[in-house]
Amino acid sequence: MTNEKLIKLAASVVKSKKMGDNTSGDVGCALITEKGKTYTGVCIDTMSGMGFCAEHAAIAAMVTAREYKIKKIVAVWKDKKRKVHVLHPCGRCREFMRQINKQNMDAEIILGKDRTAKLKELLPYKDDYSQV
Ligand SMILES: [Zn+2]
Repeated sequence: MTNEKLIKLAASVVKSKKMGDNTSGDVGCALITEKGKTYTGVCIDTMSGMGFCAEHAAIAAMVTAREYKIKKIVAVWKDKKRKVHVLHPCGRCREFMRQINKQNMDAEIILGKDRTAKLKELLPYKDDYSQV
């Protein structure tokens, strides 16, 4: 699957919904696994940090299907003019992907229309716990 198609798939699940004082669904994520299956998810923003990123939802769908290895992943947000913007995964999502399966360090993270990086490039100091 091309990066453009995965970006479009992520954008297809973005449906912003006001829930009380919070907004959910304004970021969408799509990933493809080594087996070639795709999974999507949206963010849920709640107070007190109980919400989660769209990447978490897509990864939860993947794990529900008993898959653990991400080949490629992207998260997107749409502005008021419905223009799609690719978002970089936050630090928590980067570590989450690593902890789901250490082989995900080779997952390709889509950072823009023509820009990607391996997770290991975005999380370079994994397992490098030095003693003080
Ligand atoms: Zn995140």
